Amino acid sequence: SNYSVAFIGLGNMGGPMAANLLKANAKVCVFDLVPQAVAELQSQGATAAASAEEAVKGADIVISMLPAGRHVQGLYLGDSERGVAGLIDVLEQNTLVIDSSTIDAATSILVGKTLAEKGIAFVDAPVSGGTAGAAAGTLTFIVGGEVSAYEKAQPVLSAMGKNIFHAGQNGAGQIAKICNNMLLSVLMVGTSEALQMAIDNGLDPKVMSDIMLQSSGRNWTLELYNPCPGVMPNVPSSNDYTGGFMVDLMRKDLGLALDTALKSHSSTPMGAMAQNLYNMHSMQGSGMRDFSSIFELFSAQNKQ
Ligand code: NAD
Repeated sequence: SNYSVAFIGLGNMGGPMAANLLKANAKVCVFDLVPQAVAELQSQGATAAASAEEAVKGADIVISMLPAGRHVQGLYLGDSERGVAGLIDVLEQNTLVIDSSTIDAATSILVGKTLAEKGIAFVDAPVSGGTAGAAAGTLTFIVGGEVSAYEKAQPVLSAMGKNIFHAGQNGAGQIAKICNNMLLSVLMVGTSEALQMAIDNGLDPKVMSDIMLQSSGRNWTLELYNPCPGVMPNVPSSNDYTGGFMVDLMRKDLGLALDTALKSHSSTPMGAMAQNLYNMHSMQGSGMRDFSSIFELFSAQNKQ
């Protein structure tokens, strides 16, 4: 390919996503607040930038993968309180901006609208598939924005993902993503309590997992992200719950989901329950650990 991409935010997800763009022969210029993250991508062939402004110079496409809405708004629109200018002042017309962070739809719509006034196309394109999907280039992208921008984003997204959906207008990608993650949190909690109850009654969690995988309790956490240590290799639960998707990022997503439910008068009792359990788990010191560590909320009772 001959397009040039600026990639901002090289964390658990952004790092491997940018690496896949390099493998697809895109020209990639990277920036992160953490210099070590930039150096890692540089060693894989990316151009290192000293700032976001520097990274976007000459880029056809800008991709951001940041934690939350305030980071995305600050990056593009600036932060007047802190006297920081936004990329909106330096981006050229006809640049396509793709934000793959999971953030509130309102911020995404605000950023998209403000950039559009300057002739800069914007799509929200949050992802599903976890860090393993990011590394393998098999992410699902859920895009919100104009059809023309969605079509322009296709080639670059397909270098990082397998399934690309157009959910609707700007913000629709974010709504779809938090509906999905609310369900994921419920499945992770439910899978954890079921596995622990089996263990408490003398069953082997691996055998129990195999049974449920061929039964009606089958779900993504059992297939690809088993929360019980030792059942599956190469997942956070078998690596002391490091890497992966942090509890506090899941709490952010559940907050977004329940804010959305309030506005749309939707009833989400299971999401509310999962949010409470994840809050409790974070308060007990697990905020930075992978979200499958919620399993310990159930197994810990048996450790005394
Ligand atoms: P992370 O915390 O590992 O990475 C975020 C990166 O952004 C960090 O390296 C940080 O230094 C950088 N950053 C923050 N502000 C910045 C700024 N102003 N300029 C440049 N860099 C900045 O988080 P992650 O797990 O990579 O997740 C990123 C987003 O993707 C989140 O919105 C998350 O909810 C979502 N997400 C994560 C997963 C997952 O499994 N980890 C899956 C799907 C979606």
